[in-house]
Amino acid sequence: MTWREKATSLYRRRRAHLVKSLGGKCRKCGSARRLELHHVRGRDWVAAQLARHQRIVRYERDARAGLLVLLCARCHRLEAGCVGSDDNVAAGVA
Ligand SMILES: [Zn+2]
Repeated sequence: MTWREKATSLYRRRRAHLVKSLGGKCRKCGSARRLELHHVRGRDWVAAQLARHQRIVRYERDARAGLLVLLCARCHRLEAGCVGSDDNVAAGVA
């Protein structure tokens, strides 16, 4: 296994753990499909400017602070005031 594959597998594990710790389903409709992370009060960082492992650290921090909820892709798009989507960190976990 290359270091890159190791990093990917570690990232997937942390991501799956994060999704589980947030309840593993959409906060609004209860769906467990196509889950995405939603920042309830916006965020002070931009996912696209950070490497993957830096993003997951911030997601974990924000989750601990109660700033993150899980929404399915459909509910996320309907969420008022949500411009664009957080990166699709949780997709494919369910
Ligand atoms: Zn939903």
